[in-house]
Order: sequence, then C-alpha cells, then structure tokens
Amino acid sequence: MEFCDKCGAMMIPATEEDGTRVLKCRSCGATKTLAGKLTVTQNIERTPRDKIVVVEDNSIPMPTTAENCPKCGNNEAYYWTVQTRRGDEGATEFYRCVKCKHTWRNYGG
Ligand SMILES: [Zn+2]
Ligand SMILES: [Zn+2]
Repeated sequence: MEFCDKCGAMMIPATEEDGTRVLKCRSCGATKTLAGKLTVTQNIERTPRDKIVVVEDNSIPMPTTAENCPKCGNNEAYYWTVQTRRGDEGATEFYRCVKCKHTWRNYGG
C-alpha cells in the first residue's frame, strides 16, 4: 500500500499514456513511478566438445586392415568406426596397431 507524498491519500496503480506503470493519488492526482523488480535470467548453454571414444575392451575381436602404423611402421592395424553426434560428419575411423597398440584416428575421411 502506497500513500501520496503530498496529501497522504491512498494511491492506486495506473498506466500513463506512454505505457509507464505508475501509482496515482486518488485525491490530488500526483503520480509515483513504480519501481518494479528487474529479474535477469541468464541461460548459459554449454556445449561439450566431442570426445574421442577409444575402445579399450580387448575381449571384442576387432577386424584388422592393412594400415601403416605411424609409430612403428607395422602394416597391420585393428580398425573401428565411431559415429559422432553430428550426423553430417559421418563416422570417424580409428586404427590400433596390432604390434605396438598405438591408436590413431583417420583424418583422411
Ligand atoms: Zn495526493
Ligand atoms: Zn605400431
């Protein structure tokens, strides 16, 4: 409840011609600007980066392919594909050297 500073009468909510919400004195017509609470809500959306999933379960037999290991030069590597979350990128190929277990990703596409 608000009272007029000038005459002490009760003030009622009103809207001025420009749309400003005010309190208006019923007796003398004086107005007060409504100081509304300003609540700012910020939604920060965090997009986690795509993680490279490396299969570590050696119990699953993996197919091998003729691929040169960049580490030891062996010409045989296990390979598998991982579907990235972005569907337009397609699957990413991974290789693991059968000799030294070095794992790398096929960037060639
Ligand atoms: Zn008044
Ligand atoms: Zn190797």
